[in-house]
Amino acid sequence: MFYQKEIETMDRRSLEALQLERLRRMVDYCYENVPFYHDRLQKAGVTGSKIKSLSDLQYIPFTTKEDIRDNYPFGMLAQPLKKIVRIHASSGTTGKPTVGAYTQGDLDLWADHVARVAMAAGATADDIFQISFGYGLFTGALGLHYGLERIGATVIPASSGNTEKQLMMFRDFGVTGLVATPSYAVYLGEMVRESGYPPEAYRLRIGLLGSEGCTEGMRERIERNLGLFVTDNYGMTELGGPGVAGECEYRCGLHFAEDAFLPEIIDNETLEPKDPGESGELVVTTLLREGMPVLRYRTKDITRLNYEPCRCGRTHARMEKVMGRTDDMLIIKGVNVFPSQIESVLVGTEKVGPHYQLVVRRRHYMDQLEVKVELVSAELLESFGELEALQRRIHDRLKSVLGLEAKVTLVEPKSLERFQGKAKRVLDLRSEDE
Ligand code: ZN
Repeated sequence: MFYQKEIETMDRRSLEALQLERLRRMVDYCYENVPFYHDRLQKAGVTGSKIKSLSDLQYIPFTTKEDIRDNYPFGMLAQPLKKIVRIHASSGTTGKPTVGAYTQGDLDLWADHVARVAMAAGATADDIFQISFGYGLFTGALGLHYGLERIGATVIPASSGNTEKQLMMFRDFGVTGLVATPSYAVYLGEMVRESGYPPEAYRLRIGLLGSEGCTEGMRERIERNLGLFVTDNYGMTELGGPGVAGECEYRCGLHFAEDAFLPEIIDNETLEPKDPGESGELVVTTLLREGMPVLRYRTKDITRLNYEPCRCGRTHARMEKVMGRTDDMLIIKGVNVFPSQIESVLVGTEKVGPHYQLVVRRRHYMDQLEVKVELVSAELLESFGELEALQRRIHDRLKSVLGLEAKVTLVEPKSLERFQGKAKRVLDLRSEDE
C-alpha cells in the first residue's frame, strides 16, 4: 500500500532530475539563509548553479554533529524563530542537546513521510496504534503520532512506562499497532506472556519499532511474543526525526524518502564517496527542509544502499539495516566489534534470553570483553555441567563471529536491567581501569 504512490514509484531518471533540481535550490537556500553554510560554501566555492550533476554533491562540505552543537541552539536555523512552530531535541551523551526546528511546512512534510512508512508496513485507517515511545523532546513519539493520524489511524499517546496499563489498553482498546523501541517491545512481550490472558485478548498485528537497532533474532522474538509483523524505520533529530526511511512489507531494506533526503555512502576515514552497493557511513542532505536544513550530514551510521527496484514497486533506494554506529563500534584488542554482532549470536542461542550486557575493561594494558547474558530459566543454574557446556558454546560462537576471546557470564533470569527507551547495553570501563 502506498501513501503517495506517484512519488514513491517514480522512475529513477525523473527522481534523479527532481533531486538535482532540489539540491541546487537547497544549496542556494542554505547559502542565503544560514551564516554557517554561507561561510562554508563560499570557502568551498560551491553555489547551486555550479552543481551540474548529483555526483557534484562531493564538492559540498560535510556537516557534523559537532557543527550543530557548536551552533547551539539556533545557529543552524534558516528561518527566523517567528516562522518556527516546533522545536525538538535529542539528549546528547555529553553536554548540550541537538536541536531540531520546524516550520509549519516541515511538520506537514514530516507527517507525509511517516505516513509513507506506516502504509508501506501495512498500516491502514482501521488500525489502532499505541505509541509507547516516551513523549517529550524526542522526535519519535510525535513524529509517529502525526504520521499515523495522517493515514486516518486511531492514535493512543500512551508514552512509555507503566507496563501494566500498557497491557490493559492493548486489551481494552483493541490495539492493533504498536510503536516502541525494540527493547521495550521485548519487555512488553514478556509481560504479555505472563499476563495470564489468552492470546485472543490481544489483537496486535503491526509493530513500527525504531530509534535503536534490532537484529533479526530480536525481531522474531518480538513477533512471536506479541503476534506482530514488525518493520524497521529510520530517522534522527538532525534530519527531522522518523520518516527518513522505512521497510515495506518485503522487509528487504529501508526505502529512503529520496525525493526529500538525498543519501550517499562515504568511507568514514578517507571521506571519499563509495560506489553504489558498498558499505560505509551514511551521509544525508535534506532537500526540502525549511527550518533547519542540513547539507551532507554525517550520520555515523554504517550501512549500504541498494538501487535495484523492489518487488513492492517502490523505486526509492533501499538502505540496509544499520550495522552499527561508528560511535558504538568498540575497538577491543584492535578488533572492530559492533554490539549487534554479539546480539545476533546471543539471540540465536537457545536457553539464553534477549537480555544482555557488554562490559569492557582494561587489565594490565589488555582489553577484556565480558558478555553477560540472562538464562531463560533458573533451572539450568542447578546443573553445573549444562551451564558450562552452554557457556562454552556461546564463547566459541562469539569467537568465530568476532575473532576475539570473550568471557561469557550466564546470569539469573530477570537480573539485568530492562529498558523502556533506548537500551544501554555497553559498559566501557577502560578509562576507569588501569
Ligand atoms: Zn519495497
